Amino acid sequence: MASRSISDLHPQLAYVFGKAEAEWLLLNPTAPKPFLTATFRSNDEQNALYNQPRDKKDNNGDGKIDDKAEFVTNAKAGQSPHNYQPALAFDIAFRNAKGGTDYTVKWFDQFAKLVLKTPGITWGGNFKSLIDRPHFELTDWQKQVKK
Ligand SMILES: [Zn+2]
Repeated sequence: MASRSISDLHPQLAYVFGKAEAEWLLLNPTAPKPFLTATFRSNDEQNALYNQPRDKKDNNGDGKIDDKAEFVTNAKAGQSPHNYQPALAFDIAFRNAKGGTDYTVKWFDQFAKLVLKTPGITWGGNFKSLIDRPHFELTDWQKQVKK
């Protein structure tokens, strides 16, 4: 399972998450609260996710093997900003008062507005294809990992 630790994040991302989270708690005290669901993800785990629709297993437990619903990502090991240390991306979800996980679209849209007040961050909700609302990354992450 991917790390959920903020200490595995690039300092700029740790800063923006912490800042947006603090603002969220002030602005929306009764709304579900944002939390990190992924920071660093290993190459092995990335490849396992990539292979889900072609690994002859029922990865999502819906009784179907290698169906479309098992598709998670087009990124292989090293192609995701999560695969670097420190991690160059984070994913979030929201937790409601009962402890359940909440993926309501409007919460992501509102949280993204807070995150995007800081320059240099790209939100997966603005991706041209494969819109990914839980995902935030450093805009120039590919430049940072070029050797
Ligand atoms: Zn992500």
